[in-house]
Amino acid sequence: MTYAHQWPASLWSAATAARAASPQLLGTVDHDAVVIGGGLSGLSTALHLARRGIRTALIEGLEVGWGASGRNNGQVIPTLSAVEPGALVKRFGETGERLATLVGASAEYLFRLAESEGIDCEAEQVGWFQPAHSPGRQRLSEQRVNAWNKFGSTAELLDRAETARLLGTDFWHGGMFNRSGGHINPLALVRGLASACERAGVTIYENSPVTDFTRRDEKWHVATERGMVRAKSVVLATNAYSDLLHRKLAPTIARSIVPITSWQMATPPLSEEVRAQVLPGRQAVSDTRADLRYFRYDARNRLITGGSVLGAFNARQRVADHTAKRLAEAFPQLGLQQFTHVWNGRIGITYDRYPRVHRLAPDVWSWVGCNGRGVALSVSLGRELAAAIDGVSLNELALPVTEPSTMPFYPIARRVAPFVLAWYKRRDHREIKLG
Ligand SMILES: Cc1cc2nc3c(=O)[nH]c(=O)nc-3n(C[C@H](O)[C@H](O)[C@H](O)COP(=O)(O)OP(=O)(O)OC[C@H]3O[C@@H](n4cnc5c(N)ncnc54)[C@H](O)[C@@H]3O)c2cc1C
Repeated sequence: MTYAHQWPASLWSAATAARAASPQLLGTVDHDAVVIGGGLSGLSTALHLARRGIRTALIEGLEVGWGASGRNNGQVIPTLSAVEPGALVKRFGETGERLATLVGASAEYLFRLAESEGIDCEAEQVGWFQPAHSPGRQRLSEQRVNAWNKFGSTAELLDRAETARLLGTDFWHGGMFNRSGGHINPLALVRGLASACERAGVTIYENSPVTDFTRRDEKWHVATERGMVRAKSVVLATNAYSDLLHRKLAPTIARSIVPITSWQMATPPLSEEVRAQVLPGRQAVSDTRADLRYFRYDARNRLITGGSVLGAFNARQRVADHTAKRLAEAFPQLGLQQFTHVWNGRIGITYDRYPRVHRLAPDVWSWVGCNGRGVALSVSLGRELAAAIDGVSLNELALPVTEPSTMPFYPIARRVAPFVLAWYKRRDHREIKLG
């Protein structure tokens, strides 16, 4: 049976060259390693496993890129969303230091990987900028620049005038700029990585939702409705979509995060005249608000932005109206934009905003909880997971392994999570005091 599914009405699915479908998994096959989930995490892990000479299968329930990886804003960001590098070190010691270094280098790693694999993903390494939305946040930006630079990052602090020149507006107060960041067409990157995997020898199966994985005869048996892969090692790379196709695939992992709906939208292509005034350097931008303001151009000169709203009623229209107003607040010359594409996806949020890496059994790995910042991170963590499976010691890797645990009061957390947005908005309006 082929599972009926539709691609979201995203700009990316409309604008990206299709890729030839991979076959369904039929019958029983043997590999050294099997990766479940065909997003950036799964594909990067599979590619790095194959580069290490490990015979690898990747099983995607629908089509590669169908999850968050093919729907996101495509910002390539070398920081975490809410956790500072010092906090990583405090919690994970030397592993935290390696993770902070990995995060700081993750944008550069993604761009070089795409380049070396010849992936045409509309990559623009024009920098990622985090403008500060208040004077207190500008002081936070300064602290962040110093903190990330201790781990080899190339972050710089821009003052208010430099920020106004960079963005074409004086709406923000300065901010943290990182030249290694930028943006890509995320679906093109995913599809390009799938081709790179195939060239490296990975066998990809699509339209094959995994129903369970069990240990028998000293091997893992990863089952779909019509097939089975037997392998020594397993990587679960289903992230915020872990419970979507099979609720019982990995319930503890699925319940260690709350999936939040994030809306994305694209303007029509903007004229050269407007682009000369609005974000003339084409950087990827996401500000210091918890209820983020973010945008970037795509290769067709559309601005791709996004937002969130409370409640499901008429959400598409409400979020589009709300986001158009916010854009016009910062850039009055844009007027109220009518978006040509509006779509959404799931972001996996952890209660403390730390990503989670788990070793579910000696040869079973997973990571989850990107907290909205997983494009560059997923690609670099995939490299680390592949190394772990190949026997590299955790003492050398940037994998902060913890025991999986369900988020406290999960059913309640899932219900109240959307209301956290209202709290974020209030918090964004309050100034912060830094020590
Ligand atoms: C709307 C949106 C905007 C975002 N914007 C940004 C951004 O600009 N920058 C940034 O850094 N991050 C961003 N993110 C986060 C980023 O997209 C994710 O962190 C990243 O794509 C996660 O990749 P992944 O491979 O771990 O998961 P996914 O891409 O979600 O892949 C999981 C895959 O597992 C498959 N799957 C699920 N169940 C099964 C099963 N039973 N069997 C087989 N396969 C299964 C799914 O079909 C899916 O393809 C955004 C996320 C969203 C949703």
